[in-house]
Amino acid sequence: MSTASANVAAAAASTVKLLIDGRFVESTTAEWLDVVNPATQETIARVPFATDAELEAAIASAKKAFKTWRNTPLGTRARIMLKLQALVREHMPRLARTLSTEQGKTYPDAEGDVFRGLEVVEHACSIGTLQLGEFAENVANGVDTYSIRQPIGVCAGITPFNFPAMIPLWMFPMAIVCGNTFVLKPSEQDPMTSMLLGELALEAGVPPGVLNIVHGGKRAVDALCTHPDIVAVSFVGSTAVGTHVYQLASQHGKRVQSMMGAKNHAVVMPDANKEQSLNSLVGATFGAAGQRCMATSVVVLVGETKRWIPDIVAKARTLQVNAGLEKGADLGPLISRNAKNRVLGLIEDGVREGAKLELDGREIQIKGYEKGNFVGPTIFSGVKPSMKIYTTEIFGPVMSIMCVDTLADAIELVNANPFGNGTGIFTQSGAVARKFQNEIDVGQVGINVPIPVPVPVFSFTGSRGSKLGDLGPYGKQAVQFYTQTKTITTRWFDDAGTTGGVNTTISLK
Ligand code: NAD
Repeated sequence: MSTASANVAAAAASTVKLLIDGRFVESTTAEWLDVVNPATQETIARVPFATDAELEAAIASAKKAFKTWRNTPLGTRARIMLKLQALVREHMPRLARTLSTEQGKTYPDAEGDVFRGLEVVEHACSIGTLQLGEFAENVANGVDTYSIRQPIGVCAGITPFNFPAMIPLWMFPMAIVCGNTFVLKPSEQDPMTSMLLGELALEAGVPPGVLNIVHGGKRAVDALCTHPDIVAVSFVGSTAVGTHVYQLASQHGKRVQSMMGAKNHAVVMPDANKEQSLNSLVGATFGAAGQRCMATSVVVLVGETKRWIPDIVAKARTLQVNAGLEKGADLGPLISRNAKNRVLGLIEDGVREGAKLELDGREIQIKGYEKGNFVGPTIFSGVKPSMKIYTTEIFGPVMSIMCVDTLADAIELVNANPFGNGTGIFTQSGAVARKFQNEIDVGQVGINVPIPVPVPVFSFTGSRGSKLGDLGPYGKQAVQFYTQTKTITTRWFDDAGTTGGVNTTISLK
């Protein structure tokens, strides 16, 4: 497309709205960013960077709504979630199509993105049991103690580009079903899926002000992290930004959870089922063009499995790279030109530092999508811990292969890496798997499972450089994050009761 026609397309593109106080409103900002289809470079919408007044209005609306929403009956909140899960299911094709268009991932993977978020909505429907308190009778004579889990107030969520449905759905359903109100700031690179989720939430019955959506970059994020009316911040994104968010919001007295970057190792033992392992390694490395926080990026071949390198390369060659909405595509483009250039630069670094380029995806051309941000599957062997391709999260379709002699060497390597998001082991030995799960310091561990993202009855976690804050974004930990515990100790006197005199000790008698 020529620059002139691109400008016309940009001007014609629809604008992404803000969701404030139950209404979709046009921003009055002068600062806009194009939302670009990564397969074509077409501008599909323009997203505003909300003004300070708009951010203030969203937070004020959430603050006002909290006064009544916090006491809305559990059943009412659960029924809204039941409706929301039905609507997300019903609108799956529309959500997945929008997601694939703005993010680039394949249509089936876009459905998976929505589905993994939908599972959290389904879990939120059980809030009646999830938010139960505890009761102990007779903690002293005639004294009972019970605890209740109360909502905490206005919470904020800041999400990354790579899961535009799943990660917003990790956050706002659990926050609001616990009785809080929410301000979501989705990634400015693909905000349209969040807006569809916002529409469905309103249709499901979420009252005005309970869910607000604002757009922007650092200014909006910093405003949410410092605003006195926000009590908790949930962040998912890169380690650099997540560390900043954690520090800033903590300094301002907020609860914070920061789920951050990754370098996920898959360890392959000589007794592993070869065909299963190869399929898993290739799918988990190159799916979503490697833009998953749980993507395998380092394959650690133990002992004789070093001979499997040609088989891995052969399997990777069979993958179809294409626009996400094209039939048969296994992986789509990277999110942006910048992301593509960054990945190409890192591949260049790998070559310069002496890793062996077994498969080179740099020159790939996709017919009909010549301007897309495509990088084909790329594989390095002979990767050393000091190399930039090992020390950096590449976030592209690049596999780094390292060879070690023993399981102990593999565990030492994984634990020495600064990140601890996900890892996997491929083996047929229960004893080996058990040793690995016990000694590895990583949040999500897969045993013959390549992408072990937990289902929402558990919580997503992370170790070391992949997470700050002690509670994860969904599952039981999310209920803890989005509520505070109050304990009530009671003694009731009937008319015949006697106090037993003045008690000047701390003991309950
Ligand atoms: P990012 O950190 O660039 O952006 C995340 C959010 O922060 C966006 O909403 C963005 O607008 C905002 N932001 C960007 N720069 C900022 C700044 N300087 N100050 C304040 N806010 C800023 O991340 P991304 O590129 O969108 O997403 C990819 C990253 O997210 C990868 O590192 C990936 O590993 C990580 N991720 C982690 C998890 C997890 O659960 N651990 C899940 C998904 C993605």
